Amino acid sequence: MDCLFCKIIKGDIPSSKVYENEYVYAFRDINPQAPVHILVVPKVHISSVDEINAENSALVAKIFEAIPEIAKAEGLDGGYRVISNCGADACQSVKHLHFHILGGAQLGERMG
Ligand code: 5GP
Ligand code: ZN
Repeated sequence: MDCLFCKIIKGDIPSSKVYENEYVYAFRDINPQAPVHILVVPKVHISSVDEINAENSALVAKIFEAIPEIAKAEGLDGGYRVISNCGADACQSVKHLHFHILGGAQLGERMG
């Protein structure tokens, strides 16, 4: 399967890793939209939020266990935003489930 984030997880494409465990990989976004902009992905390929189900949702829990650890390591004491774009209307550009962590500055109130 031709998936950019699967290639990043495998190490075939380099990335700036900030966190990794058995289930989860996190790396810096190549085009940051905040002082801290990290992508958190499951190591198993899931296309989007729309593909989350009872069989794979434990991986999503693993991601959300990792997020506060990453935020703490990045010093995001003032807070942060977690976003997942799903599908065309949300402008999802990479079809491998990922959660953006944005922080390190006061973010705008608007989200859409
Ligand atoms: P989406 O638009 O699907 O929610 O988010 C995809 C994100 O992946 C974008 O923020 C984009 O900057 C990031 N991205 C795209 N290609 C690469 C890459 O090769 N390396 C890294 N680190 N981030 C990427
Ligand atoms: Zn993938």
